[in-house]
Amino acid sequence: MRYNFTPEQIADPQLGPATQAVRSCVHCGFCTATCPTYVVLGDERDSPRGRIVLMKDMLEKGGAPTKEQVYHIDRCLSCLNCKTACPSSVNYQRLVDQARSHIQDHYKRPLSDRLLRFAIAKVMTRPALVRIGLLLAKVTAPIAAILPGRLGAMARIGLSARPREYAGRVLPLRDAAMEAIAHANAGDVALVFGTEMSGLSNDELARCGIAATIPANDAFSSLNVAAAVQVAAYELRVAAGLSQVWSAPRFSPATHDEIEALHAHARRTLTALRFLKPENPRRLLPRLRRLFGRASLEREEVNILRGILARVDEFVAKADKQ
Ligand code: SF4
Ligand code: SF4
Repeated sequence: MRYNFTPEQIADPQLGPATQAVRSCVHCGFCTATCPTYVVLGDERDSPRGRIVLMKDMLEKGGAPTKEQVYHIDRCLSCLNCKTACPSSVNYQRLVDQARSHIQDHYKRPLSDRLLRFAIAKVMTRPALVRIGLLLAKVTAPIAAILPGRLGAMARIGLSARPREYAGRVLPLRDAAMEAIAHANAGDVALVFGTEMSGLSNDELARCGIAATIPANDAFSSLNVAAAVQVAAYELRVAAGLSQVWSAPRFSPATHDEIEALHAHARRTLTALRFLKPENPRRLLPRLRRLFGRASLEREEVNILRGILARVDEFVAKADKQ
C-alpha cells in the first residue's frame, strides 16, 4: 500500500514495525470475509483493510485522531482472524497495538468512556473487585434485558466450547438463540466471543448470564471465531423465524388413467422386447404398478417415460423387420 511515512517514522523503534505492516498490505481484501465486524456490520471501515487505511492515515499524520478513526479502530475485536487469512502476512496485530497506543496518548475520550475504562482498568487488575463485579453481574442478570444501552447489553451470552467450572446456565446455542430473540424484544443482547487464541477466559465467561455452546463433534469442538459467529448468526436467524426456504415449482400429478396408460404401454413394450413373457408373466406387472404408484409420478414424467418407451418400440419394430 502506498504511504507517506517519513524516514524518521520508519526508523522509529515503536512506529517502524507498524509502518512495515501498512506497506505489506496489498489491499486485496482476502481478509474481509473472515472479519466478524465486517461480516456483521458490512462497513468497509469495520474491515481489516479499511482499518489499515484509517490507521495509516492516523499514524502518518500524527497528533489527535478523528472521532471516526477512533470509532472504527475501537470496534476491532483483536481476534486476528484477518492475520491468519492474509496472503501478504500483514502484521495486523503490531499495527492495531500501535494504533491503540497512539489513540491512548492523543485522543480525549468522552467522560463516560473514560470513567468506564477507568473502572475496567481498576476492577480487572484487582481480584477482590473482580469477585464483587461477578457477583453484581450474576445478581443483575435477570433484569439485564430491561436496562438501557451498555447496561442493557448485560443480557449477555458467552460462547464457549470447553466445559468449565461455571455456576451459571449452560445452553446449547439453539436454545440460547431462542432466549436471545425473546430478550431482544425488550432490550439489547450481547453475544460475547473470546479471542482466536484462547476463547473466553473463565472470568469473562462468568460475567455472562448464559454460557452457550455449539454441540459439535467432540474431536473438533473448538471452532474459530469467524465460524462460531456464522453459526450463531444462523441460529439467531432461525430463532427469529426468518429461515423460510424457497419452494420448488409444483407440477400436476399424473391422473389414475395416465398411470394406467403408462402401465399398459410398458406391458406392450416389454412384451415386444421379450422381457415379459405373456405365458409366464410372473409378478412383473403388479411390481411395475406398485413402482409407479410409489413414485408419485407427475404428468410430465409420465409423458417422458412414454416417450422413451415409444423410441424403444421403434427400435424393436426395426430389429424385427431385419
Ligand atoms: S488480506 Fe492482507 S494484504 Fe489483503 S487487504 Fe487484508 S491485510 Fe491487506
Ligand atoms: S482483528 Fe478481528 S475484528 Fe479486528 S480487523 Fe482483524 S478480523 Fe476484524
